[in-house]
Amino acid sequence: MDEVLEAMNERQVLEHLTEFGYLEGPSQGIALQVIDKGRRSLRGKQNFIFEKFIEEPYLNLECERCSIEMPMSEIVEGLHDGLCSFCRKMMSNDD
Ligand SMILES: [Zn+2]
Repeated sequence: MDEVLEAMNERQVLEHLTEFGYLEGPSQGIALQVIDKGRRSLRGKQNFIFEKFIEEPYLNLECERCSIEMPMSEIVEGLHDGLCSFCRKMMSNDD
């Protein structure tokens, strides 16, 4: 896995989360900090909040249909319908 690309994709997801009001309270500020300065800038309790309120619910998404873990690059779209790109294609073919 290309780490730079992965970090870029993660930032895109975080930007989406902060822009569209997914995050509340301290997690919003922590997401903005990670966008700005990277995850390594987080200290102590901030790491816990990031993991518990951002990473677990939004960055480790499973597809609702096939239960694979969605790649970071598919999460922004996956947040809307809960599907990975493969399943989204399959579902749209069902119409
Ligand atoms: Zn799927």
